[in-house]
Amino acid sequence: MHILLVEDDDRIAAALRPALHRHGMTTTRLAHGRGAVDHLAGVDVVLLDLGLPDVDGVDVCRDIRAASTVPVIVVSARGEVDDRILGLDSGADDYLVKPYDIGELVARVHAVYRRRRASEPAAADGLLEVDDVRIDLQRHAVTVAGRPVPLTRKEFQVLALLASAGGAVCTRNRIVAEVWGRSWAGANRTLDVHVATLRTKLGRPELVQTVRGVGYRLGHPEAAG
Ligand code: CA
Repeated sequence: MHILLVEDDDRIAAALRPALHRHGMTTTRLAHGRGAVDHLAGVDVVLLDLGLPDVDGVDVCRDIRAASTVPVIVVSARGEVDDRILGLDSGADDYLVKPYDIGELVARVHAVYRRRRASEPAAADGLLEVDDVRIDLQRHAVTVAGRPVPLTRKEFQVLALLASAGGAVCTRNRIVAEVWGRSWAGANRTLDVHVATLRTKLGRPELVQTVRGVGYRLGHPEAAG
């Protein structure tokens, strides 16, 4: 699960990120609110601090909600909790008051994520397409040029994760965390093997691109390099 952490306080971010990573999550941190909507690709849950230096967190929340269905948990200092957050107009899925217990935060993150996932099939058709590769998220089925390609569960999850990132790079850590739920000494090797098999099975070796030292992305063959 990938978390976008919008938090201007360095100390809080520095404490929070390793705690979230220990729970199998990956994080991107923004120290400001402006432009947060440009960082939503591949994000599963947004943790949004309300007191930001540049813009009002409530406005950021509204902007995110206008752009995406991603769950948003608003985090605020004591005393900032008022009708603005609790009202439905901000679009937040949940809120937490600082200081909060990390266990509670993790539980809330999982809860909003599950709720959103449960409500998704009605909203989206669950079909991702990259070139002639079609990925049916609900049926866990993949076709290339109309031909069904049988994938293992993990291979499918890697492909679906890369496809939902919309061409953005997925880091190795993130893929391992989301597909396997944990990391271990041989995780990178296992991921490489899955990607190699995926390339062979899809018959589109250029589709899954290696970003050296970072991770993988899906791309069109002509954009490779
Ligand atoms: Ca703050």
